[in-house]
Amino acid sequence: MAKNECAQNVNGVELGFVEESESFCLRSKQFHSKVGGRPAWLSQSGLPSPSELCCMKCGQPLAFLLQVYAPIPGQARSFHRTCFVFCCKNTACYSHNDSLCFKVYRSQLPRKNDFYSYDPPVEEDAADIHSTDSEILQLGSGVMLCRVCGCLGPKSCSRCHSANYCSREHQTIDWKAGHKKECSKNGVVGVSLLDHKFLFLEYEVVTEPEELQLKADSDGQIEEEQLKESEPPASDVLESMDERDLEAMAKHESKESKVFEKFKRRTATEPEQVLRYCRMGRPLWVSDENVPKETDIPNCLCGAKRLFEFQIMPQLLNYLKVDSPEASIDWGTLVVYTCAESCDQGNKYTAEFILKQDYGADHI
Ligand SMILES: [Zn+2]
Ligand SMILES: [Zn+2]
Ligand SMILES: [Zn+2]
Ligand SMILES: [Zn+2]
Repeated sequence: MAKNECAQNVNGVELGFVEESESFCLRSKQFHSKVGGRPAWLSQSGLPSPSELCCMKCGQPLAFLLQVYAPIPGQARSFHRTCFVFCCKNTACYSHNDSLCFKVYRSQLPRKNDFYSYDPPVEEDAADIHSTDSEILQLGSGVMLCRVCGCLGPKSCSRCHSANYCSREHQTIDWKAGHKKECSKNGVVGVSLLDHKFLFLEYEVVTEPEELQLKADSDGQIEEEQLKESEPPASDVLESMDERDLEAMAKHESKESKVFEKFKRRTATEPEQVLRYCRMGRPLWVSDENVPKETDIPNCLCGAKRLFEFQIMPQLLNYLKVDSPEASIDWGTLVVYTCAESCDQGNKYTAEFILKQDYGADHI
């Protein structure tokens, strides 16, 4: 994402794929995109507060889902820039086309900043980059993180004062998982991280440009749709349908099916894609339902419009291992819109807009 490859490939879309990677390779100072595990925070201050990382449906702390490292070339304030996506793990919070159990935050830093070296990190010995558990629980800036979720942990255990949490819920989880045994009034606890079964499995996300297969039909015509990344907004589709399309509709081929068919066609060549990135481009919808009009997307706090930046694909669900008979952590696609100016809020993390689109009724 960092290399401004957007302008060079056919349609400007970067596809993201998951790759197994050692956890110590995915720390903040390595500036990767990744899925699961603890967030690799960018700015080490101004983290979202526990109340900002609560599910809007059940009120429980959200789990870290994915982060995308996406600096904006040529914009000094966004020399480093990462978007962080969180979701609720309570399956009861997932309902059709409802985005309330997701949140997204953006953090950015200039090249000269308080937390990272001006020059990129040189290749380090594995011994140097292996983080200790205490580094995982406390940022270099001194900010304490929750032992369960890795988000801001302003509350500490009242007995030992050396274990931090975002919330009472996570303190309880840690207590049951083993803190009860290690907690002592002397304030010394084993810093071993317990397995709480709360975090998603961790992977690196690597990207490559989407290459479109340009197929010429029998007349030597290249399918128009493949040449352009953009498409008319869903609301215009009806007006611009030609006769052939109308005929198809007469054969009960619904608009819904067309959108879904296009989604399937477009993802068929790279079915493992978990991310589509194209800042200021257009999302690939799975359905014609819940497609927002421009006015449905709230402006940034700074007043600028929010524009499409990336979308998370349903394929990611296969890697999260959330499948179980009753599981309903699910989406067709998660579409993230960010401030067009990528405005600067100092070191503070800035909330952006995320929309969940589920499959239409015909394709569930
Ligand atoms: Zn929830
Ligand atoms: Zn927590
Ligand atoms: Zn304790
Ligand atoms: Zn803004």
